[in-house]
Amino acid sequence: MRKLMSGNEAIAYGAYLSGVKVGSAYPGTPSTEVMDNFSRYPGVYAEWAPNEKVALDVGIGAAYAGSRAMVAMKHVGLNVAADALFYSSYTGLNGGLIIINADDPGMHSSQNEQDNRVYAKFAKVPMLEPADSEDAKTFVKVALELSETFDTPVILRTTTRISHSKSSVELEDSAAPASEKSTSPAYNRDPGKFVMVPANARRRHPVVEDRLAKLAAYAETAEINRIEMGKEQLGIIAGGIAYQYAREVFPDASFLKLGMVYPLPQELIRSFAAKVKVLLVVEELEPFIEEHIRLMGIPVKGKGVFPITGEFSPHLVRECAAKAGLINMEQDNSSTTVSQPELPVRPPMLCPGCGHRGVFHTLSKLDVLVLGDIGCYTLGAAPPLSAMHTCGCMGASIGVAHGVDKAGVSDRSVAIIGDSTFFHTGITPLINVLYNQGTTTTIVLDNRVTAMTGHQVNPGTGLTLQNKETREINISGLAKSIGYEMVDEVSPYDLDKLSSVIEKHINSSLPSLISVKHPCVLNVKEKHPAPVVDQDICVNCGTCLELGCSPLTQEEDHVSINPLLCNGCGLCVQVCPAEAILVNDDNNGKERR
Ligand code: SF4
Ligand code: SF4
Repeated sequence: MRKLMSGNEAIAYGAYLSGVKVGSAYPGTPSTEVMDNFSRYPGVYAEWAPNEKVALDVGIGAAYAGSRAMVAMKHVGLNVAADALFYSSYTGLNGGLIIINADDPGMHSSQNEQDNRVYAKFAKVPMLEPADSEDAKTFVKVALELSETFDTPVILRTTTRISHSKSSVELEDSAAPASEKSTSPAYNRDPGKFVMVPANARRRHPVVEDRLAKLAAYAETAEINRIEMGKEQLGIIAGGIAYQYAREVFPDASFLKLGMVYPLPQELIRSFAAKVKVLLVVEELEPFIEEHIRLMGIPVKGKGVFPITGEFSPHLVRECAAKAGLINMEQDNSSTTVSQPELPVRPPMLCPGCGHRGVFHTLSKLDVLVLGDIGCYTLGAAPPLSAMHTCGCMGASIGVAHGVDKAGVSDRSVAIIGDSTFFHTGITPLINVLYNQGTTTTIVLDNRVTAMTGHQVNPGTGLTLQNKETREINISGLAKSIGYEMVDEVSPYDLDKLSSVIEKHINSSLPSLISVKHPCVLNVKEKHPAPVVDQDICVNCGTCLELGCSPLTQEEDHVSINPLLCNGCGLCVQVCPAEAILVNDDNNGKERR
């Protein structure tokens, strides 16, 4: 029987079938659903870790103890986890360890589009790349076997299209019996292998090089690398989603489909190249495979035909191939191009009723320099709020704000960070501010959930991934416990209080923390009656529109509120200088907040 599954669902299924016992991840689009789905299988342990480095350490520990383990993250998460990747490459493991890494060409939800195939080469670990959901399921098993055979972590790289597209997957009767090591975990005390002091690390490096040579030999005959001969005029080397696009555009060409993108099978490539007249590599982002082939002295086309930036599509591959004279667009009837209607531009904005809106509105009014961070609150940078002035990577805000402070900038400034991002990498810079006698005010937007990636629980929510009640980490309490003297908690919907608390903090020379606490209205499905605009009172000043809330729309001579979209949060009621926005009578006379 077959079932439609996304790549992420298929990876989770493959991990379950392969006897993975321990899973750890930090949510990040496009990888989030891997651990979400894995956590629902019986007999497995799955968790959200505070960040990717912690997740990988957890996976390494489980694998040291003989269990099969899976760790999942988006591409930039591997930057956070890179230290752990490199040491685990040296130590090797005991049980199998697979690292799911989801790249995001086109930056659908990321700050960059780095190509993490480079990490495989850098850390000297094998990398597999599925081209559809069936591959995704199967490659998990192959990766775990490789991990145990060659004593190495194995990276399984997907991209957004593979992670989120659905294709059919063969269902299997039941999970494979867990390996003996998995059922009776035991830590094998072997300091020479697992304690990476320089003397041991020096002994391990040649082991890593030897392993790489053996993996390269394995790649030559691995079933997941295969030649599919077509016409000899054109030979294409591709893996992952690029293979699917190329198959569509060049139906008659010969293919070397690479399931293992590192190390590359040199002899297989050489023999394939000898069989075809023109050799072409189709790959998104970096010329990773192309450069390797060039170093082998084989003439090859690649980035001269296709761009180095952005996400590919069959349409883009076809256009580039036509420009390079590889196909004739007029004669090409391999597929029909579906014309897409022009859609109206819909700029991203905070949801109606979102608590973050009140904070950014207040910061904008106070003209504060805002050093920002990664989360749905990054939308505070968008007009009309325009109240975030930097945003680099997870957890950067507090360190950047401290740097701005130490540089002697006279502007009043704050660091702004969400609850999940605070737990991810915000705690150490918070300590740094205190330790190094900074004056930074940190505002934590605590909406009680990891909202941006789909409402995952985090250490502040009191629940685990597998829905067990657990200790809730209180952010204000944490700040006080490490020595912060000025700590306040405030609702994002009380604008006067919010403004006075922020004023107090930014005018103080003490390092401080404000926890702005209210659950994400989408997560708790909170909604109140919409207020109404009295058209006779409204002077059409536009002040309420500065909130950037989509239910508020400009009519000819007044503003109106779309009650279907409105959440009834009451912020517009508070900002209207003419008091033209009235709390709806349906509210039983009770004003929101
Ligand atoms: S009450 Fe006003 S600010 Fe709040 S959701 Fe409705 S329109 Fe937006
Ligand atoms: S702030 Fe008040 S007076 Fe000004 S446009 Fe909005 S509803 Fe009208």
